[in-house]
Amino acid sequence: MSYARVLCVGLVGVAGHLVEVEADLSTGLPAVVLTGLPDTALNEARDRVRAAMVNSGQEWPNRRITVNLLPAALPKHGSGFDLAIAAALLAGAGELPPAPLDGVVLLGELGLDGTVRPVRGVLPMVAAAARAGITRVIVPLGNAREAMVVPGVAVRAVDSLHRLVEYVRGTAPLLDPPSAPTAPPAGGPDLSDVAGQQTARYALEIAAAGGHHLALFGPPGAGKTMLAERLPSILPELDDEAALEVTALQSIAGLLPPDGRMIRRPPFQAPHHSASLAALVGGGTGLGRPGALSLAHRGVLFLDEVPEMAQATLQALRQPLESGRVVISRARGTTEYPARAQLVIAANPCPCASPAGDQLCGCTPVVRRRYLGRLSGPLLDRIDMKITVLPLTAVQLIGASEPGESSSAVAARVARARAAAASRWSAGGWRVNADVPGPHLRRPPWRLPARDTGILHRALDRGALSARGFDRILRLAWTICDLDGRERPNAGDVGEAYQLRMGELLGRVS
Ligand SMILES: [Zn+2]
Repeated sequence: MSYARVLCVGLVGVAGHLVEVEADLSTGLPAVVLTGLPDTALNEARDRVRAAMVNSGQEWPNRRITVNLLPAALPKHGSGFDLAIAAALLAGAGELPPAPLDGVVLLGELGLDGTVRPVRGVLPMVAAAARAGITRVIVPLGNAREAMVVPGVAVRAVDSLHRLVEYVRGTAPLLDPPSAPTAPPAGGPDLSDVAGQQTARYALEIAAAGGHHLALFGPPGAGKTMLAERLPSILPELDDEAALEVTALQSIAGLLPPDGRMIRRPPFQAPHHSASLAALVGGGTGLGRPGALSLAHRGVLFLDEVPEMAQATLQALRQPLESGRVVISRARGTTEYPARAQLVIAANPCPCASPAGDQLCGCTPVVRRRYLGRLSGPLLDRIDMKITVLPLTAVQLIGASEPGESSSAVAARVARARAAAASRWSAGGWRVNADVPGPHLRRPPWRLPARDTGILHRALDRGALSARGFDRILRLAWTICDLDGRERPNAGDVGEAYQLRMGELLGRVS
């Protein structure tokens, strides 16, 4: 037998595709040809596979070898094809019986010494294999836990090419995946750590309940980061579908812990204001890696000191925030990553960032206006609530010695409000108020009576409010009403939403 075929999976973005690795060995001058759009890493596979085979005690077939990866049109990258290529070569050379590998997906990178190393993206690869009807996969030991997250697939692990060879020859078993960790995942930061800050805490609760974007303004040390970090702790746990998406993205980025458990807590990403465009939105080498925006998918993207960010970077955020996905175009193909994140931005009121805030700051009103002006326009228009966070005074600190309300208590109210919204919008398939299209809110039966929305109409007429802002305030009013457990928003909810949207501090400095 001089031909063999082994199954593998290639990834484009988060989408996995079944790949057939064919090996043909013929007489002729010894040579190795790889076909099927391989990138540099795949060409290097040839050398890795050769060294791994020889160092595993296998003979390198001294014949004309053609390795073909199908479908040819699918862009392929990375080192995850090594194990499948080695197995196809050995089976093609007649060193291995082909039957035990029939219908099995093989994933893994080979070290020169023949060890099998973990690769990125095993979870979405195995999920794709399962969708294609595959029920058995063999993966690197270090990826076995994450592969087991996918239901309906029998996962076996290998630590070396030698072990795979022994298994296929029927002389040794494969490895069992490591047993599941027993300790629960460590809890994140809790809202009970935040003393005082009633307005900001309430805004955080509204943001969580309705999926709204939030801006926090205030001097350093006022607790903006502390508040933002605690937003995930009051969001509901991810459902199965969302958890799989989030865990797959972490897997592709190589950030999944080795215990490989499904991520249930909404992610929190806080890229530095100097982060590159690729780090923030996605890109980089090869077909492009997910950026912070995609790693915050179904969770929270926190941008601190946002006026310090490059304008080009802020611009690049707009489109993905709107569409919920990032598209990275490359000569060899287009990669797409989901990016449906909730945005929290924070800014100091002025460039000097005086910790005492207003009192000691030497910045002139013009300087302050120019600084926050860097934020203005399309990005700020997408922010639903603008909150001022000031450091607690000594009196407040002493008065606030009691711990704040815990995240679990707030999360329970958030969950109730979300349930009310989800059932109201179930016909449209929207889960949170932030998802509901504006026209839907402005038409019967959901249109609010004019006596309740008068403040918005007047602001619209004076040009103080954009049409987008009008809709955003309506969504916010529904969330305030949901948190209060009422059926429909009243004038009070609309007024409160209007105030949250317009932001008091911005009014004061501009
Ligand atoms: Zn200043």
